[in-house]
Amino acid sequence: MPIEIPSGTAAHSDRNPESSGFDLFKLAVIGIGFVIGTIWLISVIVHLIIWWIPPSVEQKLGAAIVPTYERMAEAGTTQEKLNQLLDQLEAKLPADKRKDRNYQVLYIPQPIVNAGAIPGDRILIYQGLLNQTESENELVMVMGHELGHFANRDHLRGLGNALLIQLAFTALTGDGGSLVSLGASSVAAISRAQFSQSQETQADEVGLQLLNAQYGQVGGAVDFFDRMSKKDRKQIDLLATHPTPKSRVDHLRQLIQQKGYAIGPKTPLSSELRK
Ligand SMILES: [Zn+2]
Repeated sequence: MPIEIPSGTAAHSDRNPESSGFDLFKLAVIGIGFVIGTIWLISVIVHLIIWWIPPSVEQKLGAAIVPTYERMAEAGTTQEKLNQLLDQLEAKLPADKRKDRNYQVLYIPQPIVNAGAIPGDRILIYQGLLNQTESENELVMVMGHELGHFANRDHLRGLGNALLIQLAFTALTGDGGSLVSLGASSVAAISRAQFSQSQETQADEVGLQLLNAQYGQVGGAVDFFDRMSKKDRKQIDLLATHPTPKSRVDHLRQLIQQKGYAIGPKTPLSSELRK
């Protein structure tokens, strides 16, 4: 019996490019899925690592970072006064957020309108920020916001995933030597760090609670951000790394209403803080 060649056999080779095209598509989907999955997994791991890294390791990293900023800072009456205010705020933090901490301000006499939280329990306050501040209440709000970043461990998140994984590894192995090189990369990462809108909102909420705890009312809570919203974004460093001041002001006003906080008089800046 003659073998009958099924119709369409000849076309088999013609189907090849079609199926390899389909395979390529599947491969691409698997590849993209793998990349997205890996990024997701890393972010989950880093989120867990953040809460696991003990303050003692953070302080060791801080010891490698802080001297860079100490060299820029100016010890004197301004820094002392800022630290007095910070001590009062620190005492109002919940006990678990104060444990094993020793927050201190480094006052940096540069015309940059900015403040920041860095590993090693240090809050940076720049002279440019004091120049733009008109009451003690505004300043307390900014410092409270920075304490909020510490409470949520955003100052570690700002280092980026790669550095954090190295830091966790160092914490596991107890290899203090590598913290020095980590410190150098951290300084570079800190200067580029950007926080998300939700991190900023949470820090603002802590700032508002501390402002209320300090004065028994929240007068001045939005003044600084309100004033900044009327300025050129490019001239204000703080705005490069923070959400628009308008959205912060709106959110803070909402929060003040929700919590039923009172709004009272503002305390003038003491002479050491007037710049
Ligand atoms: Zn912030």
